[in-house]
Amino acid sequence: MPTDNFNTIPLKPALIDNLQTLGYQQLTTIQAESLPVILAGKDVIAQAKTGSGKTAAFSLGLLHHLQEKKFRVQALVLCPTRELADQVAKEIRRLARAIHNIKVLTLCGGSPMGPQIASLEHGAHIIVGTPGRIEDHLKKGRLSLANLQTLVLDEADRMLEMGFEETLTSIFASCPSKKQCLLFSATFPKQIVSLSEHIMVDPVTIKVESTH
Ligand code: ADP
Ligand code: MG
Repeated sequence: MPTDNFNTIPLKPALIDNLQTLGYQQLTTIQAESLPVILAGKDVIAQAKTGSGKTAAFSLGLLHHLQEKKFRVQALVLCPTRELADQVAKEIRRLARAIHNIKVLTLCGGSPMGPQIASLEHGAHIIVGTPGRIEDHLKKGRLSLANLQTLVLDEADRMLEMGFEETLTSIFASCPSKKQCLLFSATFPKQIVSLSEHIMVDPVTIKVESTH
């Protein structure tokens, strides 16, 4: 069951107004529990079932912290598959409608390199992508994370299952040490603890059992 109202969370008013336009009137439980911690700038490990609204939880957090006038990559969202990356990018664009000129770029394996390289030259505020392709762009010097504020691992359990641990560790090495790290997952395999130890500082763990 929804447990709270968006108005009780100190999100930027433009983001709240847009949520009402989108028909989101109440926070889901994972949103109500994780957003205040995310807005406070803490690292978060959040676990909640599929369909519980995890995308909006981390997306609202990263959009709240985004400086739209600074045209640099400020947030990176890593997803296990291209389909998920496309869904997340779509949701971020909907939630970002309230803020003018937010550029969200998706970078996934399986897509031709040429257009991705051209898009990277144009720049973006937010990048959503799959680990292998992001690592590739980083290694070739086409993508800089020097201005990164928020790193999100979405469906971290699936990324680990798919054998991305080493790739993720290599991406972490390209991130500035001072950043916020948000790890979202439907399940909590032991490997998540070792992964989080690599990248997180005193993370707050939030676990929600119900779907809504
Ligand atoms: P998860 O990542 O936890 O599996 P999603 O983030 O994909 O779940 O959300 C599932 C659906 O719920 C999406 O269609 C999303 O737009 C919708 N949704 C998320 N938060 C809310 C909310 N607060 N009110 C209404 N719908 C929401
Ligand atoms: Mg999800």
